[in-house]
Amino acid sequence: MIQEELDKIREELPEGVRLVAISKYHPTSAIEEAYDCGQRIFGENHVQELMEKESVLPKDIEWHFTGHLQTNKVKYIAPFIRLIHAVDTEKLLREIDKQGRKAGRRIPCLLQLHIAKEQTKYGFTPEELDAFLQTGIHKELDFAEIHGLMCMATFTDDQSQIDAEFARAHDIFEQTKERYFSDSPFYTELSMGMSEDYTLALRHGSTLVRIGTRIFGERVY
Ligand SMILES: *Cc1c(COP(=O)(O)O)cnc(C)c1O
Repeated sequence: MIQEELDKIREELPEGVRLVAISKYHPTSAIEEAYDCGQRIFGENHVQELMEKESVLPKDIEWHFTGHLQTNKVKYIAPFIRLIHAVDTEKLLREIDKQGRKAGRRIPCLLQLHIAKEQTKYGFTPEELDAFLQTGIHKELDFAEIHGLMCMATFTDDQSQIDAEFARAHDIFEQTKERYFSDSPFYTELSMGMSEDYTLALRHGSTLVRIGTRIFGERVY
């Protein structure tokens, strides 16, 4: 079943778009099954769970952190994490830089853009993002490398609203790339699209889709 779903999703992905299999709350056996089907990128939302899985699963897995990351936990994942999707404060970005320096490796990050209607605490609004990048902080940091943006659409059945939000995220990605990253070879990723909305996200230039339920089934919390 995991094999079937992975194959279906892979067929839908345009060239250059990567699938992050979101394995949070699923057992290592499910990850191994996906691994045996060739899947190598997995996303987790909790540091403790990620560390436990990382320690027992194959070393060529590319682990992404897709949840809200607390500053005091960056040190645990800094030695191996391949992409941190949801950086939403300067404090967090600076801590990632510090821990990357200690671990002797650059850590790719995405800035979380908040465009959905929900009143969540997380993510930069478009205005905040612009103000943040105007400070030039991304040029100051040697070990936290900004590779692009991540966003989540509003949780709604209204496809036209989701479509408009992804279109807006893509616009903001292009604008920020032109204004602030024109000399950076790294600013290339737009992480958007989950089980229910990745088809729409792909129409708007997503380069990383984060899919859990479609692959692994419902999560048991
Ligand atoms: C859980 C989660 C996903 C995957 O959601 P599904 O609906 O199960 O595909 C994607 N992105 C983030 C940030 C998540 O927390």
